Amino acid sequence: VKAGGRDGWQFFSDSLEEQARQRLEINNGLRKALERDELSVRYQPIVAAETGRIIGAELLLRWHPPGGEISPATFIPIAELTGVIVPIGKWVFREACRAEVAWRSRWGEQAPYVSLNLSARQLSDDGIVDDFADMLRQTGANPARLLLEITETSLMADVEANLKVLRHLADFGLRVAVDDFGTGYSSLAQLTRLPVDVLKIDRAFVDGLEKSDDSRTIIRAVISLGRALGLKLVAEGVENPEQQRELCAYGCDMLQGYYFNRPLVEAEFANCLTNQFSD
Ligand code: C2E
Ligand code: CA
Ligand code: CA
Ligand code: CA
Repeated sequence: VKAGGRDGWQFFSDSLEEQARQRLEINNGLRKALERDELSVRYQPIVAAETGRIIGAELLLRWHPPGGEISPATFIPIAELTGVIVPIGKWVFREACRAEVAWRSRWGEQAPYVSLNLSARQLSDDGIVDDFADMLRQTGANPARLLLEITETSLMADVEANLKVLRHLADFGLRVAVDDFGTGYSSLAQLTRLPVDVLKIDRAFVDGLEKSDDSRTIIRAVISLGRALGLKLVAEGVENPEQQRELCAYGCDMLQGYYFNRPLVEAEFANCLTNQFSD
């Protein structure tokens, strides 16, 4: 801190205070966001690697308090710390159930599956198993078409505790994906104990894949590991056709990224599907 001189110190001190103030404000705002209807979700298509056809969508949370939009990368970590992610996460699960039912009634067997993010904090909430069971029952959603994405880091942080809850959720028929795979430190033994169906390869390895032998090596290793374990593989953050070509050649099953679609509002997403089915 001293090395920065007086101005450097001043800047640092202000920014810490500013950070604490922002954190408080975000936490207070989030507690009210649900009642005030300030939360929404976007749907980012997930396509079959070989055909490019949409077969799923990831729900991505958005918060728009008066006067702007705050990125989930900013508010999710705070919501996890304070625990407000628990009621918000329930709301997201309900949205996912609602989407599953609506899409299946519209597109039948061809309807895309629904992927959603689950934070570790939600898994340690005692009510989660009953809450999710209730919502499945109330909405009539098909659990086999819902995929719970949990980051590798949070999954592996407390394998024993997570294992118990995930087994319950998997018993309902819900599917589980390891998100941001490759950035944490999975023990392979632990991975085989968990009821996991899908690995999502982190964007960090896809980014620059076409230029980096290291990324290529990691991606090929993850894909062959996943296949050996009988899991499906999704690569996220696909931004160009070279990446699609390589990932497809290495045997990745599904792709997601700006090259195909950005996260969309539901009407835009529905249009994409309608176009696809009229081809
Ligand atoms: P994530 O689960 O890894 O989601 C993927 C993020 O990458 C999304 O950012 C998505 O918009 C972005 N993305 C997708 N394709 C591309 C691409 O081709 N290039 C680049 N550069 N980015 C791409 P987003 O929507 O800002 O979400 C950020 C993170 O916030 C998510 O990362 C997830 O960890 C968290 N999050 C979002 N919604 C929820 C939620 O409902 N619950 C929880 N617990 N976390 C959520
Ligand atoms: Ca995710
Ligand atoms: Ca991810
Ligand atoms: Ca991520």
